[in-house]
Amino acid sequence: MKRTEIKTLLQDVEVGTKVNVKAWVRTKRGSKNVAFVALNDGSTIHNVQVVVDRDKFDDSILSKITTGASVSIDGEVVASQGSGQKIEVIANDIIVLGESDPEKYPLQPKKHSLEFLREIAHLRFRSNTFGAITRIRHSMIFAVHKFFTEEGFYNIHTPIITGSDAEGAGEMFRVSTFEPGNPPRTEDGKIDWKQDFFARETNLSVSGQLEVETACMAMGKVYTFGPTFRAENSNTTRHLSEFWMIEPEVAFADLEEDMDLAERFIKYLLQYALDHNQDDLEFLSKRLQEAEKGKKESERSMELIEKLKFVLDDSFERITYTEAFNILRNSKPNKKKKFQYLIENWGADLQSEHERYLVEKHFKKPVILTDYPADIKAFYMKQNEDGKTVRAMDVLFPQIGEIIGGSQREEDLEKLTQRMKAMDIPENEMWWYLDTRRFGTAVHSGFGLGFERLMLFVTGMGNIRDVIPFPRTPQNAEF
Ligand code: ATP
Ligand code: MN
Repeated sequence: MKRTEIKTLLQDVEVGTKVNVKAWVRTKRGSKNVAFVALNDGSTIHNVQVVVDRDKFDDSILSKITTGASVSIDGEVVASQGSGQKIEVIANDIIVLGESDPEKYPLQPKKHSLEFLREIAHLRFRSNTFGAITRIRHSMIFAVHKFFTEEGFYNIHTPIITGSDAEGAGEMFRVSTFEPGNPPRTEDGKIDWKQDFFARETNLSVSGQLEVETACMAMGKVYTFGPTFRAENSNTTRHLSEFWMIEPEVAFADLEEDMDLAERFIKYLLQYALDHNQDDLEFLSKRLQEAEKGKKESERSMELIEKLKFVLDDSFERITYTEAFNILRNSKPNKKKKFQYLIENWGADLQSEHERYLVEKHFKKPVILTDYPADIKAFYMKQNEDGKTVRAMDVLFPQIGEIIGGSQREEDLEKLTQRMKAMDIPENEMWWYLDTRRFGTAVHSGFGLGFERLMLFVTGMGNIRDVIPFPRTPQNAEF
């Protein structure tokens, strides 16, 4: 018999139909006469309940139906007696495809901590929570490509191995085929990178932006969506060493248009999740509420679905760094020295505590900060007339802080190279990037959205390690 997936079974199959289900056992419970087996095959958060008449089957089969085992069950769809679901399946034939020793199987049919699930990343797909996250993650990946396709963008695969380190200053993972202990050396004893695989120093990319800008200067609207690597030792709940970033770049667009695009994009993704992932969101919402039961009312986060809708309903607040600086300097936590980093001098980089204060306490909605001090931003950002600030924009979100970083780019060759000199960025290595300004330069803008930061917001999860299948963080690359 042809297999029916559980999602289809629960939605579309009529009572009386004979079906085959192949899936993994989540739980088995029951009485002397019948066993109730909950099956899940990943197609939905919901399990299907299979009713097994103990008289019809050998004990040798029944005893092998344990949590984690894979089974193939033929049966008939009937109206459910219980309250949970509309239908269930009465088993006629059971084959245990793969046994699972209940003594050794790490996932018991009970609540496990997220920390424990991280230690069994290869099995956590089988938990309700990670199943829901996985389905939402797929949905968001699809929605990213759908959004840009609808808006007339082209997807550009930018390289993962890169020869330019202009952006990464010391935070990159080296790519080399040299023997670690015995690299070839030049006469003066330095490592001779000319003899390495690419005949130069190469690293894993920290951003596809420089390459995607070159595509933008011909294709008009482009984006890259790829893995990104940062060798910074940030052990936070918002940083990964390997994450996925979406970087659109638009020709003839200024910072205003860039911000409009960013806002439209995030809202599109959130709306897509609400429209397509309702069951999983409801599950995660309940999970979150349970996890926060012990907390005071004032410390609890907004209900997940309500929170997503809340962001959709309102436009993001747009203010300059300088305005934000003044708000923060005069804020209560700053005056009472509650911030870990006090806001004193104009020009300081904002920490996530400051970003969250602006979003969660002051404006109570997402905020886009613009016109940052040039000294804390990258060399390619458009310089303002004031000689101090650049046309940068960061989108700040509740719970997360920075979710997007972007800017209008400096299109003037002279100003750009001046800036590079000041920041000690070698011009000769960047010749191809500078060609975009030499030949038909134009105003253009773009940004980077950290995909896992978005996932944190959509799922309400608190730790970025729980929204990517196999997290890479300092000291951790087990699976
Ligand atoms: P942060 O200040 O939060 O460390 P950043 O300013 O270094 O971030 P950008 O270089 O602007 O980040 O990267 C663009 C986007 O990529 C950020 O807005 C964020 O969403 C995401 N991002 C940056 N670093 C990480 C990381 N280590 N792990 C996951 N996402 C990240
Ligand atoms: Mn940034």
